[in-house]
Amino acid sequence: MRVVRTIGSLRQEIKKIKSREKTIGFVPTMGALHEGHLSLIRKARRENDVVMVSVFVNPKQFGPKEDFQAYPRPEKKDILLAKDEKVDIIFHPSEKEMYPTGFLTSISVEGITGILCGASRPGHFRGVTTVVGKLLNLIEPDILYLGQKDAQQAIVIKRMVADLNLPVTVKICPTIRDDDGLALSSRNQYLTPDQQQEAPILFRALKIGKKNILNGERNAAKIVDCIRKTITKHSKGKVDYIVCVNADTLAPVEWIKGRIMLALAVKFGQTRLIDNIVVRA
Ligand code: AMP
Repeated sequence: MRVVRTIGSLRQEIKKIKSREKTIGFVPTMGALHEGHLSLIRKARRENDVVMVSVFVNPKQFGPKEDFQAYPRPEKKDILLAKDEKVDIIFHPSEKEMYPTGFLTSISVEGITGILCGASRPGHFRGVTTVVGKLLNLIEPDILYLGQKDAQQAIVIKRMVADLNLPVTVKICPTIRDDDGLALSSRNQYLTPDQQQEAPILFRALKIGKKNILNGERNAAKIVDCIRKTITKHSKGKVDYIVCVNADTLAPVEWIKGRIMLALAVKFGQTRLIDNIVVRA
C-alpha cells in the first residue's frame, strides 16, 4: 500500500493505473476509520482492481464553532487498518496541498443543502462538494462509495455528479452499527459514558417510527412526534431535527407513500449525532 501526500504524486499514480486500464473504487473519508468506513472499503475491494481511500479532515466543511481542531486524527492506526483491507493507495494530503494560498473556487449544490443538516451547518455541504469534486477530478474513479449514514451528503453528492456529468457511478452502502444500534461515527468517541448509554435511543426511536408505518400509520407528523417523544423521554439529547422526507429527493412528506426516510440529528452535549432509516410504505 502506498501513502500519497501530494497532488503531483497522486496524478502520477493515477496515470499509471489508467494506462493499465484498471478500474478504481474510491472511498473518501476524514479518517479515524471504523467498521463503517471499512465496510465501504471492503465493497470497493470486491468490485474494483484498485482501491483508493482519501483521508482528509476538510476544514471547509466545519463551521467556525465546530470540532475541526478536536476531530480525531489517528494517522498511524488508519494506515494499518487500510493496509489490512488491502487498500492500494491512501491519499493523505495536507490542508495546504488541497487549498493552497489563493484558492477561491467552490462547488455548490442549491436547494437541498439549506435544509436538515444544512440548516444548522451553513456552508457545510459546499465544503463537502468542493472537496469531493476536487477528489473526483483528481482520482477519476469508476465507482464512488458513500455511506447511508450521511444520507443527505450522499444525495447532495449524487446531485453534483449528475449535474456536472462526472463520469463516476455512486454507490450508497448500508449504515454499520454497534451491537446496541448506535450508528458508528468517528464522533462517537466524544460521548461521555452516560451519553453512550443514551445515544442508542436514536435508532430505537427510528425503528419504532418504522414499525408504526409498517403497521399502517400514514401521517408523517404523528410518526415524527412519536420519535421525538421517545428520544426526549429516554435521554437528555437535544433534538436538532426529526423529519420524514422522500428518501431520494429529501422533499418533505406529509402523507407517507413510497420510499421515505426518517432522519434525525440530536445533540448530546456538544456532540451532534445523525441517523436515519429508510422505509418502503
Ligand atoms: P467520514 O469519515 O465521517 O467523512 O465518512 C466517510 C464515509 O464513510 C462517508 O461516505 C460516510 O457516510 C461513511 N460512513 C461513516 N459512518 C458510517 C457507518 N456507520 N456506516 C456506513 N458508512 C459510514
